[in-house]
Amino acid sequence: MSGIRATVSKILTFSCVDGPGNRLVLFLQGCNFACPGCHNPHTIGICDDCGDCIPACPQEALSLAGGRIAFDPTACDQCDACLRACPISANPMVQHLDVAKVLALIRDNRDFLTGITVSGGEATLQLKFVIALFTAIKSAADLAGLTCFVDTNGHLGAEAWARLLPVTDGVMLDIKAFAADRHRLLTGRDNDRSLASARIVQAAGKLYEVRYLMVPGMNDSDAEIAALIGLARDLGDELRVKLNAYQHHGVRGPALDWPKMPRDGVEAAAARLRAAGLTEVVTPVVYP
Ligand code: SF4
Ligand code: SF4
Repeated sequence: MSGIRATVSKILTFSCVDGPGNRLVLFLQGCNFACPGCHNPHTIGICDDCGDCIPACPQEALSLAGGRIAFDPTACDQCDACLRACPISANPMVQHLDVAKVLALIRDNRDFLTGITVSGGEATLQLKFVIALFTAIKSAADLAGLTCFVDTNGHLGAEAWARLLPVTDGVMLDIKAFAADRHRLLTGRDNDRSLASARIVQAAGKLYEVRYLMVPGMNDSDAEIAALIGLARDLGDELRVKLNAYQHHGVRGPALDWPKMPRDGVEAAAARLRAAGLTEVVTPVVYP
């Protein structure tokens, strides 16, 4: 079995919002976007063992051992002070798990699961691990029937998709904005690769959902919603589009001054998508 290890920020053994059914979710550490409005900013960076978080921990759960950060989960009370202290949006509480360990975790929860989702951070930055894990799940007779989903910002290239898609059942893909300047402002990157990924994944029949996080004054204009409708029409009227509303949970820095997205703005956009012929438009269950 593959000895590749993933750097895992967090594991949820049960989630009903990260793809269809009940899912075990691995949030992998590290992201290639730098979204000011990220709701999980501590998943962006990779720890460089600077040690700045050690004095911030009131439980003495962090230390340096051999020049590397050591984390004692038995001492941690999950106060998150270390996450706030880290200067590079990293997480000293990551776990390094190989495929065998993740398979054991899945087997422990098998009776309750529809499938597994890799999320982030940006899960595809750990592509080799994701492919190895999904391949192992698909090869295991006792895990037959579990679906393997990826939640991604779509920055992955065509060659890598060609390796990942054969072992993947579904993809949730974020489109952050359509106008180039808006996308750069919201992510620090261009959007050409994300848009290309939407088409690649849809052509493979594996685009489960396009997600669009609406941020007031950033990507909720008539032109942006028209562009979302245009993309959705290109991809097919049955495309599932999930609209999310920007809120402040987890956000740090200047993006806390951005207004929250109100319900009426989301519902108006949803009505436009439905009027344009899209049959599956999902809106938030609760608003901030
Ligand atoms: S969350 Fe971080 S700071 Fe808080 S107890 Fe755990 S390791 Fe220490
Ligand atoms: S988590 Fe951040 S503060 Fe702590 S050692 Fe790593 S880089 Fe430094």
